[in-house]
Amino acid sequence: MNKGRRLTIEVVFFIFLVGVLYFVLPDRDASFWPKGRVDVDSGNRLVMGTFARIIAVAIDSGTANNCVEAAFEELKRIDELMSDYKSDSELSEVNREGFEKEVKVSEALFDVLKRSAAYSRETGGAFDITVGPLVDLGRWAEEKGQALGEEEILRARERVGFEKLELDEMKRTVRFSVEGMRLDLGGIAKGYAIDKAIEAMQGLGAIGGMVDVGGDIRCFGAPPEGKRLWLVGLQDPHEGGDVVGAGKLLLVLRLANGAIATSGDYRRFSVIDGKRYSHIIDTQTGHASEGLSSVTIIAKEATLVDALATAVSVLGAQKGLELIERQKGVEGVLITSGPKYEVLKSSGVGKYIE
Ligand code: AMP
Ligand code: MG
Repeated sequence: MNKGRRLTIEVVFFIFLVGVLYFVLPDRDASFWPKGRVDVDSGNRLVMGTFARIIAVAIDSGTANNCVEAAFEELKRIDELMSDYKSDSELSEVNREGFEKEVKVSEALFDVLKRSAAYSRETGGAFDITVGPLVDLGRWAEEKGQALGEEEILRARERVGFEKLELDEMKRTVRFSVEGMRLDLGGIAKGYAIDKAIEAMQGLGAIGGMVDVGGDIRCFGAPPEGKRLWLVGLQDPHEGGDVVGAGKLLLVLRLANGAIATSGDYRRFSVIDGKRYSHIIDTQTGHASEGLSSVTIIAKEATLVDALATAVSVLGAQKGLELIERQKGVEGVLITSGPKYEVLKSSGVGKYIE
């Protein structure tokens, strides 16, 4: 195992420990949420290659328990469909067979593919799940510990581009128009899984809840008894601690009914020849995105914030902020790279700051 690989494994472990932290505020005022409600907190469980924590609030503990377990089942179900690490996932089947024939997929996978294509159009291609061949090339470079040449990038880019992905809504099928394409849902599957987990809890009678998958979080409804609000703390990426809860908090955000996701090179990166490379790739150039060390997006749904956080990392500060301002109900906090970093906020983010 060479140096580059070893460093990545450490960093992937590190992401469990930094990022967005969830906590709640004590209820000083008489809250309007039902009194006597109960909450079940799962604590951290390993799922989707990271830690997930779920809290369900309900009128009785049986309901709250059921909600937590059903929400975890949803996370596992989505992971089994969309993981590219699992060779028997539906996504892996599409990646193996998508050029030879049309592949019929589940409603959930089709939904994610359709939304991904829409996000690609809305972000001018910054978000692009056909990034797979470039991700593979990056992993290969990391294993060899050597930076990529333009020639290799150019060849991989021939198999990348959302316009090369054919989706047939009527037949619910997927097809690749170029051989060797590979889809990677690493930038959106967590968010989608969170939304599905929240839906499952709501369907089973939760009056409030929180789902946190690796620091991407969505909350709704009543916070636990005795608490006033669902709050999340945004960690300063330049002051990351090495234990949960350590490190400096940059901001505390109120998240009554909403979702938050953070992307950035402080969470996942490779080190080759002493240079740090983000795992987020600009498909137009084939290179790792640069310029922003962290992008946090707030909006109603987790799928949207997950995809936009990845897209804004590619777009950079100026175009990224323009995209956020264009989208209704979307806010963001961007932190630039480098020792003299800047914290940039979208115009409406103030209403979330505690
Ligand atoms: P996130 O942490 O949500 O920003 O997702 C990062 C992951 O998304 C990477 O590890 C890749 O699997 C995938 N990815 C990389 N570049 C892109 C891109 N331009 N668009 C969509 N997904 C990407
Ligand atoms: Mg993302």
